[in-house]
Amino acid sequence: MPLRRTLLYLSQQPGFRKWAETSPVARKLSSRFIAGSTLDEALSVCRKIRGDGITATLDYLGENVKSLDEAAACRDMYLRMLAGLRESGLEPNVSVKLTQFGLDFSTEACEENVAALVEVAARTGGFVRIDMESSAYTERTLGIVKRLHARYGACGTVIQSYLRRSAADVDTLIGKQIRVRLCKGAYLEPAEVAFADKADVDRNYLRLAERLLLEGRYPAIATHDERMIASARRFVANQKIAHDSFEFQMLYGIRRDLQTRLVQDGYRLRLYVPFGEAWYPYFMRRLAERPANLLFLARNLLRR
Ligand SMILES: Cc1cc2nc3c(=O)[nH]c(=O)nc-3n(C[C@H](O)[C@H](O)[C@H](O)COP(=O)(O)OP(=O)(O)OC[C@H]3O[C@@H](n4cnc5c(N)ncnc54)[C@H](O)[C@@H]3O)c2cc1C
Repeated sequence: MPLRRTLLYLSQQPGFRKWAETSPVARKLSSRFIAGSTLDEALSVCRKIRGDGITATLDYLGENVKSLDEAAACRDMYLRMLAGLRESGLEPNVSVKLTQFGLDFSTEACEENVAALVEVAARTGGFVRIDMESSAYTERTLGIVKRLHARYGACGTVIQSYLRRSAADVDTLIGKQIRVRLCKGAYLEPAEVAFADKADVDRNYLRLAERLLLEGRYPAIATHDERMIASARRFVANQKIAHDSFEFQMLYGIRRDLQTRLVQDGYRLRLYVPFGEAWYPYFMRRLAERPANLLFLARNLLRR
């Protein structure tokens, strides 16, 4: 936990960012988690994993854009992604971050940008997952999700088990039958809002997973943690929950062994497939999650 927090803190320092963005080693390591820089490259990854029995949610990397023009350009890219997925015979399923759609500038403009996608998704049998960012955005994100869901359906969001408020949010989302992806949470948060102890985060994860599996609408159990997965599998078996009423989700490039095992055992699995040039914040969160990734980076730096 302290290493994770240190890395997340460092990643926000401009000097460190500049170093990482120009480091060929960081770029090389980031390619393990990122499905290329263009939409065509990402679509070909989605087609390939589909062949392995795995579905995808496509993410165009980027967050905290600097203007509403930039946000509109991201919206247009997402419209091309939905069309590209459909034309490739794949489910039009995307994941978006609201700060990429202008949330730092205007809640209304951001909501209309995302509405354009959800409207298309609703017409074409697709789905828009609204990712959850740091706790500074949680309330506004849930507000937008609830309004867009009431207007179109075809969208859902993410709940982070490290947040103290999450049990109440899960109840509300179940009440509105809004689809939830459950994850542990990837941002640096103060102890007032988030559990600092990993054991508490994990305990809450299991509690919320069970609640969602029993009463949620097609929940997504998003984790690479073998203990969380084993526990969810046991719960599903004991409660006789159908395998097509939920899915597991993992990040592209992480724990491929576990991914294969789940598919072989007859579970639904969706991968979060990010692409694009704005890889730095996404990459730093992945680095912080696993010290071994950092060791790999350090070894390569020393070798140069
Ligand atoms: C599909 C999906 C969508 C997500 N969306 C969001 C979101 O919207 N908002 C948000 O805050 N977070 C999101 N996350 C990230 C999540 O919050 C966690 O930070 C991340 O999944 C790591 O937690 P874990 O559950 O895998 O468990 P951990 O306890 O962190 O890890 C358990 C084990 O998983 C493996 N592992 C985990 N991370 C890595 C890694 N980076 N590299 C290699 N191995 C690893 C290791 O074996 C590790 O021991 C998402 C995660 C997934 C899978």
